[in-house]
Amino acid sequence: MKIARFSHDQTIRYGIIDEADLVVLDGDPLYSGFETTGERVPLADATLLAPVIPRSKVVAVGKNYHDHAAEMGGEAPAEPLLFLKPNTSVVGTGDQIVFPPQSERIDFEGELAIVIGTIAKNVSADRADEVIFGYTIANDVTARDLQQADGQWARAKGFDTFCPLGPWIETEFDIEDATIETRVNGEVRQQAPLSDMIHSIGEIVEYASAVWTLLPGDVILTGTPAGIGPFQSGETVEVEVSGIGVLRNTGRRP
Ligand code: MG
Repeated sequence: MKIARFSHDQTIRYGIIDEADLVVLDGDPLYSGFETTGERVPLADATLLAPVIPRSKVVAVGKNYHDHAAEMGGEAPAEPLLFLKPNTSVVGTGDQIVFPPQSERIDFEGELAIVIGTIAKNVSADRADEVIFGYTIANDVTARDLQQADGQWARAKGFDTFCPLGPWIETEFDIEDATIETRVNGEVRQQAPLSDMIHSIGEIVEYASAVWTLLPGDVILTGTPAGIGPFQSGETVEVEVSGIGVLRNTGRRP
């Protein structure tokens, strides 16, 4: 099931994608299930929003693909390398990525994102499925020059609009055989099977939930494959995960 958050007639609601329509849900499915109102809204008449605004945090994993660790000039760390992005960095598909004046190099990083469904603490890898609501797509936008200058990543990865999520949440995603591809103005820049991840979904949930209590709606970005690079103001970045959809955002230097 694909679950979108959308605005229509100046109200924000949730819906299940059913071909060209949204079947409207009675509330936020993270808290109130999948009861429908009986209404249908044509997708073409709706504006898709970030499918979830994390209540507490976006967790992210750095260097979770060998080829990407190598292009960054090192080996992949033995354990997941975690960092946080603030929930104020989240935007939806179609929203602009606003380039901050502090940076001269803004990079895309296409990633699969996990959406947590229940309060989760100390969850073992083999039970991770029990706390996962579904999966969406992320762009872990990074001010690469500031990442190198600062030595840690809070500023470089935390600006407003630096965490596009969407276009919706797939609750029945099957990671096996799935692929991720990132395009800039239609040109392929990243392409990898998700099975290339070093630390699996279960291992990431176990590791992160041993650090923090994860809340419903928290999101975990699972790392980016090789091929990262800058994009320019006016260019459109598309991140596609097979079985989920396409997240599409355009950069803008104000
Ligand atoms: Mg990343």
